[in-house]
Amino acid sequence: MSRMRQRSVVSLHDVAPASLGASSTLLTLCERHGVRASLLVIPGPWRGGDPSSDSDFRRWLDGAVERGHEVSLHGWSHDGTGQANWRNRFVARGCGEFSALGRADAVGRIEQGLAVMERLGHRVRGFTPPGWLASTGTIEAVRAVGLEYLTTQRSVKVLTAGVDIRVPAVCQRPHSTLEPIAALAVRRYAVSRVSSGQSIRVALHPADLNSPAMFESATSLVQLAAFAGSTTYAELADGFIAVEAVA
Ligand SMILES: [Zn+2]
Repeated sequence: MSRMRQRSVVSLHDVAPASLGASSTLLTLCERHGVRASLLVIPGPWRGGDPSSDSDFRRWLDGAVERGHEVSLHGWSHDGTGQANWRNRFVARGCGEFSALGRADAVGRIEQGLAVMERLGHRVRGFTPPGWLASTGTIEAVRAVGLEYLTTQRSVKVLTAGVDIRVPAVCQRPHSTLEPIAALAVRRYAVSRVSSGQSIRVALHPADLNSPAMFESATSLVQLAAFAGSTTYAELADGFIAVEAVA
């Protein structure tokens, strides 16, 4: 949005006990550059881990929140099983848990996730569906359970303010066979946005640690985000509501 001053949000995707090592490394990278991140937590069982029963994970998450990072919701199990549509198979590579859910099913999964986060002592204000794929029922569900924002790859929908903040999220494509070229293109795009005064969202994934080149590229995206003035999704939503209120 042109009237929004330049800002950035760095989000850590797939934060869970199974990815604790990677999430911790990426969060340290953010902190080294003064970036507070939005941690997208998978609250259900995923890859053999379970946040409810993992004390190491809970301690780490508590510490992150104390240092100013945000806890946000990223699906329930991050599992696309049973979602046999093409988007899940080809766009989200099997991560389209919410890509085809009806409202009732989506409400059920989101409420399950919110209950876990509440037991862990964290208030969650927003939702990012795995693969950024949200069915119409999911969008209705996020609103119905009272969450304040929903992110897509192209924008942050602040439901409480009725606004769509159009800032794209950039991420590396870790499974692409064109990995180095894709990383370079992503970096160029991010540089062009930030240098022209536009806002940017940077999405980091555990696979950003797969190679030194990927990590280097992730590092430069975090540096760009820091330059653009980093905030969290929750604070972005708050700020936008405030701007709207005086406009
Ligand atoms: Zn994910």
